[in-house]
Amino acid sequence: MNGLHAVRFMVLDPAAGAVLSIADEKTAALRGARNLLRVEACRSADAAREAGQFELWPADLVAPIQPSPRAKPVSRRRREIFQKCAGCCHYCARPLELAGSWHIEHMLPRALGGADEISNLVAACIPCNLSKSDRTAIEFVLEAKGGR
Ligand SMILES: [Zn+2]
Repeated sequence: MNGLHAVRFMVLDPAAGAVLSIADEKTAALRGARNLLRVEACRSADAAREAGQFELWPADLVAPIQPSPRAKPVSRRRREIFQKCAGCCHYCARPLELAGSWHIEHMLPRALGGADEISNLVAACIPCNLSKSDRTAIEFVLEAKGGR
């Protein structure tokens, strides 16, 4: 168990999905995170290393856990809605990416008493979601078919 010890404080950057610092004490963890942020701000790793700011944490410890902030885990609810709609936009049938940006859409809007349940929720691409606003799904589909 050489080199292992209990770590009690961890500073995270949720947007970047990165661990900024880890330490036994809160003040040390915060100091480490502040140093790292300062290092990132000046964008000069060499200068930081010379200043001793990088010594505290190995590079692989502070590297982003996920490749990009977009690749966050898909919630179970989102997955269920995606599967219910066979991975396509409910309105225009455009294929959607599970981890991509699509909206969860209330078929009967909440403003009109629509429930927050899977049975009332569908996947919608962003253009469809934005143009639908508070109309019901049936009104929207009828208008889209009759209007053009
Ligand atoms: Zn669509």
